[in-house]
Amino acid sequence: MLLAHRIRIDATPDQAGYFARAAGTARRVWNWALAEWNRQAACGQRPNAMALKKCFNAIKYSDPDWLDGDGNPWLRTIHRDAHAQPFANLARAWSRYFEQRRTGQPAHRPRFKKKGRSREAFYLANDKFRLDDMVAVLPKVGRVALRERLRWPGKIMGASVSREADHWYLAVQVEVPDEVARLARTGNGITGVDLGVSAAATLSSGEKIHAPRPLAAALRRLRIRSRRQSRKVEAAKKAAGIEGPISRGTRLPVSKNRTCGARALARLQSRIARVRRDFTHKLTTRLCRENHTVVIEDLNVSGMLANGRLARVIADVGFYEIRRQLQYKAARSGTSIVLADRWYPSSKLCSACGEKHAALALSERTWTCAACGAHHDRDVNAAKNLQRLATGAHAAQTALPEASQAVTPCTVAGAGPAGGGEVTPVRHEHGHQDGSGQEENGAHLCAQFR
Ligand SMILES: [Zn+2]
Repeated sequence: MLLAHRIRIDATPDQAGYFARAAGTARRVWNWALAEWNRQAACGQRPNAMALKKCFNAIKYSDPDWLDGDGNPWLRTIHRDAHAQPFANLARAWSRYFEQRRTGQPAHRPRFKKKGRSREAFYLANDKFRLDDMVAVLPKVGRVALRERLRWPGKIMGASVSREADHWYLAVQVEVPDEVARLARTGNGITGVDLGVSAAATLSSGEKIHAPRPLAAALRRLRIRSRRQSRKVEAAKKAAGIEGPISRGTRLPVSKNRTCGARALARLQSRIARVRRDFTHKLTTRLCRENHTVVIEDLNVSGMLANGRLARVIADVGFYEIRRQLQYKAARSGTSIVLADRWYPSSKLCSACGEKHAALALSERTWTCAACGAHHDRDVNAAKNLQRLATGAHAAQTALPEASQAVTPCTVAGAGPAGGGEVTPVRHEHGHQDGSGQEENGAHLCAQFR
């Protein structure tokens, strides 16, 4: 199983300078390759990343665009993996785009990377570096100090160096033997999880898991710092005599005040990302460890992110990330993930008697079932309904893994009787009534903001 370990690097200023130049090179080569690809495609040719790389190799030490002020090819000072990998990345980006178009998903063409906006990273092939306890020996920079030892034994497949705010990280991909990658399970539960905003996750057991408090405090600070930063940008624009949006290619004069502000903002954003990552990792590990089946809603996250008001809220909770982590961790612990159809009315069904209450208002956090008199907490009820997808009669119809079957802890991914690690979508017979189900899902998230 391919796993990655991201380790913080204690870089010297010289090393950090090299990393920044190498990442800048990777970005510039990507942009060159993409421009060339677009040009060839516009002429009716069929561009190909490997052919583009050949073209680039022929000019990279001689073309004036790639020479420094003294006429020397500066690419020689950067390790070749940093300027070879963008071609492979571009080929992957295009094939993903064509695949998305073929299957009717929303598709986005590869885009140009903008300095300061795109992720700063470059690649290292596995034969170009080595790890020696808490030290990595990288090409062109030599020994760099790491904050941790590599966590996994196994064959190293490659690595990338990337920046987050003030720090550089080495992410090492390791092919870990399955028996090592396996996570021992401590329970065989079946849990429905309702992801929401008032509580980040509500379990069918009735437990509510809240997002960490430092996040809310940091988000408040984030608003303050972003406001300060945008004032500085506005002031700089005014001083430069620019009105309205900055046109392409113009650069504002650099000021120390603005640079410091931008760095403070980036540090805070990175801190928020780390707090959030820590929370989602702990949540998803726990869910996979304690359960043999976890049922979550298949929310149409990108559709909901397009709704401006919801976007911040959803991005904050990190739905994408929770689902992504659940899926790969499930493979390690032999847990089945069941995705409930996005039109499944999980919050409108009574989990006690199955009666559907279509008229349930979005602001009602608790309600009483008119048919059976059961009193429900909205989120707990939704989580119970999700759980029922894996335990109830519905599960039998949809060929789910037998939910009552005991699965021994430590089931190897894919080998267990429950078909561990598989993601099973459940379609629901309520049908796709003019997409209204999606509205419900979207709306129940923002209910408390009304
Ligand atoms: Zn009822």
